[in-house]
Amino acid sequence: MAEPTRAAPALLPLDEALERLLAVARERVIADAQTVSTFDALGRVLADPVRSALDVPPADNTSMDGYALRAADVPAAGTVLPVSQRIPAGVVGSALVPGSAARIFTGAQVPAGADAVVMQEQTAALAGEGLGSVRIDVVPQAGQWVRRRGEDVIRGAEVLAAGTRLTPQALGLAASVGAAALAVRRRPRVALFSTGDELVMPGEPLKPGAIYNSNRFTLRGLLQAAGCEVTDLGIVPDDREATRAALRRAAIGHDLILTSGGVSVGEEDHLKPAVEAEGWLHTWGLAIKPGKPLAFGAVRRDSDGGGETLFMGLPGNPVSSFVTFLLTVAPVLRALQGAPAGLPPALMLRADFDWPKPDRRREFLRVRINAAGGLELFPNQSSGVLTSAVWADGLVDNPPGQAIRSGELVRFLPMGALIGN
Ligand code: AMP
Ligand code: MG
Repeated sequence: MAEPTRAAPALLPLDEALERLLAVARERVIADAQTVSTFDALGRVLADPVRSALDVPPADNTSMDGYALRAADVPAAGTVLPVSQRIPAGVVGSALVPGSAARIFTGAQVPAGADAVVMQEQTAALAGEGLGSVRIDVVPQAGQWVRRRGEDVIRGAEVLAAGTRLTPQALGLAASVGAAALAVRRRPRVALFSTGDELVMPGEPLKPGAIYNSNRFTLRGLLQAAGCEVTDLGIVPDDREATRAALRRAAIGHDLILTSGGVSVGEEDHLKPAVEAEGWLHTWGLAIKPGKPLAFGAVRRDSDGGGETLFMGLPGNPVSSFVTFLLTVAPVLRALQGAPAGLPPALMLRADFDWPKPDRRREFLRVRINAAGGLELFPNQSSGVLTSAVWADGLVDNPPGQAIRSGELVRFLPMGALIGN
């Protein structure tokens, strides 16, 4: 009988893999919340919504230096009004004397009875008794240059939802409603190790056959940028027992074990059997390029109150490792923190390059935005060329088998949004 021809194993579409990963991660959302000072909450994920106990701004105030008055008191340009008071920011004036103007400065509350502010550039101050008077050179509209009480935030409104990752501007908004402390999720604890006997650390001599371990730095940085506490377990040799021991150790006290390398199909790829022996494992051929092998599973925690720790094994090629992290690990980390987990929305931008020979896998091409608002392609898209990942502003998400002709719109994923900062 003839050998049956071996069909290439079916590759798993990214969306399906993400669905499965996120389903598991959402069952394991980190429950512990902590209260941290708003000062120290950058990058953390809110466990509870932030509501405002006040209107912002708390009172009508002026957005210009000038004069507060009643618009009806200025029927024509050139009207002169006596200046009845002076109101710097932080001072609350008295009710406006009818038929007068109040000298006022940006941020100060508009006095009761005034309904408009005239900017000082459209006035002339005239000397005289007391505070003198002012000539108004433009007929004002009621409401002009007045920032209304509550125009930013209404008292009782939710200003930040649970699950929000706290950006600098979110911290500012929380502070603007008076929140001195915030309830946030505990940071995900991630154990990281690299596999590969060829790897040495920068600072060590590069012996023949060796390369420097770059993934350790890239992945550690990505984890830190995603708000994780990282335990760096260094380089684990290509050896079954050493890998099993590293996994057992990594399982304790962590939410996720992340590795690079050793998940292909060679005899020197020991991670898969090691994880299988210590827990459970799925190995997927992801239908993405760069990327493809992704291992996903869990390692039993025998000595730490039982349970298991999630495991994700990334490919070793530096660009594959980087891109696969952005597309799979970053969403899992968001889901573990109860944040919206999906990939960021793509922008439709013009390709200023040709891509005549697409892959049958969904490709993530390293591109850069040029001064004309189009996209340029890094010339070498090989999965080992890490320069491409530094040069790029983002990735073009190209559907399987789709050629790109210069001038067409393509899906662009900005690097910052993928990394989550
Ligand atoms: P592997 O997935 O272990 O078969 O590795 C695939 C390729 O990535 C090989 O060329 C490795 O030398 C390289 N590689 C694996 N791990 C790393 C690492 N931590 N840093 C840089 N290159 C790596
Ligand atoms: Mg290897």
